[in-house]
Amino acid sequence: MSTVEQQQAQPAESDADAAELQQKIDELAAVAADLENKPPQDILRYAVEHYRPGVSLACSFGMQSVVMVDMLKQLDLLNDTEVFYLDTGVLFAETHQTRLRLQEKYGFRAVRVAADLSWDHQQKKFGGHLYEQGAEGVDKCCYMRKVEPQRKHLRGKAAWITGMRRGHNPSRANMPVVLWDAVNGMVKFNPVALWDDKQMWRYIHDQKVPYNPLYDQGYPSIGCNTPVCTRPVKEGEDPRSGRWAGLGKTECGIHLDGNQIKSLDGSQL
Ligand code: SF4
Repeated sequence: MSTVEQQQAQPAESDADAAELQQKIDELAAVAADLENKPPQDILRYAVEHYRPGVSLACSFGMQSVVMVDMLKQLDLLNDTEVFYLDTGVLFAETHQTRLRLQEKYGFRAVRVAADLSWDHQQKKFGGHLYEQGAEGVDKCCYMRKVEPQRKHLRGKAAWITGMRRGHNPSRANMPVVLWDAVNGMVKFNPVALWDDKQMWRYIHDQKVPYNPLYDQGYPSIGCNTPVCTRPVKEGEDPRSGRWAGLGKTECGIHLDGNQIKSLDGSQL
């Protein structure tokens, strides 16, 4: 996903709408420049103070998410932020346990977002597990269980917060810490964009933040609990190689731009 693609304006209804949208994009670029080298806490504070009550944190209960939940709590802003998670129906038990530990420690309740179609009904409808049906099958499954439910959930909000990092993927190398998200029609914050794994783990250990125990069992990236979607990686392997191994897929789709999402769109499948 390139920054330009992400910030591209959706077709506007009139020249006035287009001008207003462009102004918003320009203002966010200036805010991004201001916040560029600020700590994640400053970016979180800006996000919540400017966009509450319509601001949501997308929470996978991975390392980025637990760090930001702790930061929001310490900033006394957790109650002003909706925390939601995508329950695909096949999350690891350890992921649910991490959610429960976090909720208990910080005194909040994460909002569950899920597809209308249950996991079992999906298998019946598509003649078995989509994740066993090659690249097209996993794209279709991620679209139905993650992309579409998240887009529906975010509709009408003002801003959302993600755990995206520049180091995750070369296409994110220049990702701003805040930008206009044309796909969802709202502001998108990436407060930990500049952090690396070392900084994450130092924070988690220093602040005693609960984290998913699968990280200690060789899973550097944790998604759905199927043999195709998440597997442990060996020492020296690319940390992302444990996700959709051999299928050439690197994104579940929730951070893709409009054209890329169109290629996953369930209506075409
Ligand atoms: S990660 Fe796998 S099981 Fe989860 S939604 Fe995507 S394809 Fe389906």
